[in-house]
Amino acid sequence: MNDLLPDQSPVWQYLESQVKSVLQAYGYAEVRTPIVEQTELFKRSIGEVTDIVEKEMYTFEDRNGDSLTLRPEGTASCVRAAEQHGLLYNQVQRLWYTGPMFRHERPQKGRYRQFHQVGAEAFGMDGPDIDAEVIVMSARLWKNLGLLGSVELQLNTLGSAEARNRFKEDLVTYLSARKDQLDEDSKRRLESNPLRILDSKDANTQSLLNDAPHFHDYIDEESRNHFETLKTLLDAAGIQYVINPRLVRGLDYYGKTVFEWVTTALGAQGTVCAGGRYDGLVSQLGGKPTPAVGFAMGVERLVLLLEELGLVPEAVRQSVDVYVIGMGDNNLAAAMAAAEVMRHEASLRTVLHCGGGGFKSQMKRGDKSGAQFAIIVGDEERDNGEVAVKPLRDNGEQVKVKVQELATFMRERF
Ligand code: ATP
Ligand code: MG
Repeated sequence: MNDLLPDQSPVWQYLESQVKSVLQAYGYAEVRTPIVEQTELFKRSIGEVTDIVEKEMYTFEDRNGDSLTLRPEGTASCVRAAEQHGLLYNQVQRLWYTGPMFRHERPQKGRYRQFHQVGAEAFGMDGPDIDAEVIVMSARLWKNLGLLGSVELQLNTLGSAEARNRFKEDLVTYLSARKDQLDEDSKRRLESNPLRILDSKDANTQSLLNDAPHFHDYIDEESRNHFETLKTLLDAAGIQYVINPRLVRGLDYYGKTVFEWVTTALGAQGTVCAGGRYDGLVSQLGGKPTPAVGFAMGVERLVLLLEELGLVPEAVRQSVDVYVIGMGDNNLAAAMAAAEVMRHEASLRTVLHCGGGGFKSQMKRGDKSGAQFAIIVGDEERDNGEVAVKPLRDNGEQVKVKVQELATFMRERF
């Protein structure tokens, strides 16, 4: 679990503001849910035999003896909240959320125990058009961040529940006969979660899968048509994708469309955004059957990627425009007043030097603040109703400016 410190927070704020403006442009509304839920919610949605529920949740009993869990992801909470407040009753919803998630995983680059996601969920629409919309929306964000060339869209369909079950049976039959050749995780999953075996990183297991039944041959016609239309819509929108027949996702509730945006620039933790359709989840949690599709992106991984690729605009890290210095106690009030004028009349981000010190050390701090200009008030300036304005980033001349003209003068320089 990490602290976010001032050298990093501007990058997070930049990313968050870009994300927010894209989500708003597509008509998505924010929901904020508690970070703890009843443990049961995650067991019922994510699935009892998934990695998350089996090994990764932070679960505890509260003082009433209720079992609570720090949310490991946002979709279940979002569905719970939407259902509880009647948002899904005979209407469509486009919702988004952001915040910390908790999973007890082995920490490494791009993998933490408290991490942050931004998620979008669209409810009440069963066609491929809304699948295309959420993908186009994520692509728009990559474009705005300059990332579009660095992430690859992988796409698959998991078909209907019936198709998945028929496939699962045949896959298990095939792999059970070759169980001794499987890696340990896959052996375990053979009983609990056989589809996840497709996802195995083990080379032996992967080569064994080459001759295994292929899901492609099991997909029901409706899912196949849905997938074809989705591809047509993505083509028309100019979105490139790669079909990855082994993409399965680690959560049980997905069906039909699944996708991931993957980068090679972050090592093993390459998935920056993942999602898909989950038409069964709302009814599974007690609501009326409601089709749904969504995604979640990993904020830490996106921040890492932006930094790695040098895509954080210089201005993002700059938080101060003007640094104001009053020379000596007699000039503190005038300096304070000048700083207020900068902030509220010139709309410039302004830091007032506090705590005294020699002129040199004050200028040094002004320089370190990143400000473009220093405003200096000395005895002579104050007596003449003026201040001195000194450019800090080039060798421009220091000039005297009348206090009444200061706001206009400074505004013109930004
Ligand atoms: P992975 O395969 O990398 O473990 P996942 O399938 O468990 O990912 P999801 O539950 O789909 O991930 O979460 C969506 C996104 O959230 C991931 O693509 C990733 O960017 C991010 N994410 C998931 N787990 C972590 C973590 N422990 N630390 C940081 N980011 C994470
Ligand atoms: Mg995971």
